[in-house]
Amino acid sequence: MSEAHNLFGTLQTFDLGNGRQGALHSLRQLENAGVGPVSRLPVSIRLVLEAVLRNCDGKRVLEENVRALANWKPTGPRTEEIPFVVARIVLQDFTGVPLLVDLAAMRSALARLGKNPKMIEPLVPVDLVVDHSVQVDYAGTPDAMSRNLELEFKRNRERYEFLKWGMQAFGTFKVVPPGIGIVHQVNLEYLAKGVLSCPSTVSGQPSALYYPDTLVGTDSHTTMINGLGIVGWGVGGIEAEAGMLGQPVYFLTPDVVGVHLTGALREGVTATDLALTVTERLRKAKVVGKFVEFFGPGAAALPVVDRATIANMAPEYGATMGFFPIDAECVSYLRATGRSEEHCRAYENYYRAQGLFGIPKRGEIQYSVELELDLATVVPSVAGPKRPQDRIRLPDLKREFQAAFTRPVSESGFGRAVQDLGRSFLVSATPGFHAGGGSQEPVMAPEARKHGTNPQTELEMANNRPTPDSVVAQGVPHGGQIRHGSVLIAAITSCTNTSNPSVMLAAGLLAKKAVERGLQVNPLVKASLAPGSRVVSDYLTRTGLQTYLDQLGFNLVGYGCTTCIGNSGPLPAAVDEVIGKYDLIAASVLSGNRNFEARVHQSIKANFLMSPPLVVAFALAGRVDIDLSREPIGKGKDGEDVFLKDLWPTLQEVRDLMQSALTPAVFRKLYRDFAGQNPKWNEIKTGAGTEYQWDATSTYIQEPPFFQEFGLQSGEIREIKGARALGIFGDSVTTDHISPAGTIKKSAPAGRYLTERGVAVEDFNSYGSRRGNDQVMTRGTFANVRIKNLMVPGTEGGVTRCFASKTCECAPGEQVSIYDAAMACKREGTPLVVIAGHEYGTGSSRDWAAKGTALLGVKAVVAQSFERIHRSNLVGMGVLPLQFKEGTSARTLKLDGTETFDVLGLGQNLKPQQDLTLRLTRASGLVETVPVTCRIDTPIEVDYYQHGGILPFVLRQLVAGQGAGSGAVASA
Ligand code: SF4
Repeated sequence: MSEAHNLFGTLQTFDLGNGRQGALHSLRQLENAGVGPVSRLPVSIRLVLEAVLRNCDGKRVLEENVRALANWKPTGPRTEEIPFVVARIVLQDFTGVPLLVDLAAMRSALARLGKNPKMIEPLVPVDLVVDHSVQVDYAGTPDAMSRNLELEFKRNRERYEFLKWGMQAFGTFKVVPPGIGIVHQVNLEYLAKGVLSCPSTVSGQPSALYYPDTLVGTDSHTTMINGLGIVGWGVGGIEAEAGMLGQPVYFLTPDVVGVHLTGALREGVTATDLALTVTERLRKAKVVGKFVEFFGPGAAALPVVDRATIANMAPEYGATMGFFPIDAECVSYLRATGRSEEHCRAYENYYRAQGLFGIPKRGEIQYSVELELDLATVVPSVAGPKRPQDRIRLPDLKREFQAAFTRPVSESGFGRAVQDLGRSFLVSATPGFHAGGGSQEPVMAPEARKHGTNPQTELEMANNRPTPDSVVAQGVPHGGQIRHGSVLIAAITSCTNTSNPSVMLAAGLLAKKAVERGLQVNPLVKASLAPGSRVVSDYLTRTGLQTYLDQLGFNLVGYGCTTCIGNSGPLPAAVDEVIGKYDLIAASVLSGNRNFEARVHQSIKANFLMSPPLVVAFALAGRVDIDLSREPIGKGKDGEDVFLKDLWPTLQEVRDLMQSALTPAVFRKLYRDFAGQNPKWNEIKTGAGTEYQWDATSTYIQEPPFFQEFGLQSGEIREIKGARALGIFGDSVTTDHISPAGTIKKSAPAGRYLTERGVAVEDFNSYGSRRGNDQVMTRGTFANVRIKNLMVPGTEGGVTRCFASKTCECAPGEQVSIYDAAMACKREGTPLVVIAGHEYGTGSSRDWAAKGTALLGVKAVVAQSFERIHRSNLVGMGVLPLQFKEGTSARTLKLDGTETFDVLGLGQNLKPQQDLTLRLTRASGLVETVPVTCRIDTPIEVDYYQHGGILPFVLRQLVAGQGAGSGAVASA
């Protein structure tokens, strides 16, 4: 228990509401002490300021950091970095497993150096939610959820054993097991406390010190928690590891964009429509790298669940956060979700004492920029077909799909001939288990659905034949016609929406009306329902709505990310074959937040984001080239046309059911004793010991090379000479292009690696699940089937030209896989660079996109602009991010990969954002110099780069006794 400091006399007490007093670091007093005009600062900045003040220890956080932030200027220069010590960390399993692998590797490195491995220990609470691994192999049947869960455990046993080792090896590392929910929804409903406390002493007397709940998470959509007034955002796993080990998360002082909300949503408009509208508006307003703070009467009137839906999509609008301040709605939400009365009172009293309670009104806060949105102007919308910010008014979707069909690929279109649009193609009937929902020509007759039986499943059971992964869901017993624009995947998925009972109930109500009118879903549509927590199933069951969703094929498939992360599972082979043969522009409709190419499913090119009720509506319609405001969705059992407006639930109908959704007792029951409620998790064996016993034969968990030759001295910053291009890419290369999460192809380098180790194709699992194995992940870097390397025009996939000359057997410039070219260059000591366009590294935070880049031997990435997290991850892995000056690009320089590159001006005196020179030597021998900006943005990043990355830096600090454990780090 440490004595809390009393800098500026800020250590004060407040009434906890239970007759006792708590201590806090008072922001009001900071202003009274003349440090800065704190009460005029955006609420989000004040919450970060509290953390800076509380953690001010003269080492990691200095008094000048407090003064600088207390005097934040709305439009000041943004050169100062803020050292932000977060209160806790959340992880999902795709990013959490490699993070745990790194921690285990650091322990191994310390043991090899003869140091105590237990020096590596998270100093803040860490919660990992296993949500990314469940895949929709089975859908449309009553047992889909249990069968998918079974397969999940079968595929991921090794990873789960490793997680269980971590639970016993690290004191503050907890795991929410599979089958419980999605990290951000679990965070909102259960993990988040809103205010935390730790034992401390005030003037020598024991006291509980209260402080705001703040966090970082290794998932971009960590921002969902901003809807509950909690500061937090997504960081790379590398930064999260540093945060765990006591390093502050450093970020440049941000601009704060205030979004003044007025009015209210109209009848027929959902929170999803609002989130898509906000995404489009804020993308245009260029909020990348900024805080966004919503305020005004419109914000105050929104319930927390709607705020969370909007906050969730902050990565899509590009902001660091989409923050809603704390108010009575937050207290109500905490109560409704089962947090204790005592805690709710302490929460409210804490924020009142800090002057942070209530949504600000116009004029109370000085923002960098103010934007205006009248909620009454929001209309029903979808977004797509390739980017979440491309919002389309619902009535315009038909026209937009048709326009995108013929638009050039370079303009986000599909580049197809107009005469192809109306053609349809036959999917032949093939035997086998059907994975799709629906019942126009039902696999499972509607009557059978009601009773929970499925002829195909029963047939399999009768044959007593286990279903191998490879043949799951391959059959199409009744066949049918599909065409461009056919909906083949309809997924109610993603924490963005499943955390919001209003849209989930609306989906159920729409399904009910559709069933009552006799509508059915075409069996070629693979429908699925994957909520982010079991609470959703509880209220859908209690309201009787799940029955109707089941009858349309929206059976529960699991509690996890599923389609949102691309785990949509296989389509029937016959469908896939037709798509491939005719290069069909088939569609998915999903309530997710991302729709980049190949994200949802490798075969589906047009992906539209929308609210859960619209997902059901488009599943019924079976196509996206339809104007649902005018054309009928289908014919009812009475032979009459049924329109969307006939099915759409009223606001009142949804409100009437909302009470049943937020029942504190249900939350308390479902969020306790995870292990006890999950026998499969209990069956996973638990390893022992503080050091992990690496198994060289494992294809899931391997000791990464990052610390294998670790020394206590950092290297020197030197110029890069004689580098070759590994890839030249266009705009909007996503982290999924760089490090795909989905399927591993047999012919890809990673597939060959697994095959050589005796792994059958059906057991390949996904790249995401193999992030604990650097060998797979390095081979998978730039292996996305849709990535286009301009060095090899006209190709898709991870190929390049190899210019290694000394050790390579291929001819100079021969087309090879990116991995093979990189290894050839590595063998002969040739450094590599990657050249890219705008928004390089956009998409989910994915540290393997940086780790894989580094392990391929890439020393610098030169881009026109970078996504925030990926840029910092590159630095965190010792890869230099360089930015072309405005007007310069690979295209203006006419780069084709035959050049060699030098980066000049790099040295020990490197300064953040310094100008450097990129020298090109063309094949002709012509030499040109190009000025570039070094996107090492902060002084601490210079240190990281010098040490070869953030983890070697932290490890050396630990060994030198300057790092973890040296500061007062708050704990819950
Ligand atoms: S559901 Fe989607 S947004 Fe939510 S955590 Fe999973 S992948 Fe991320």
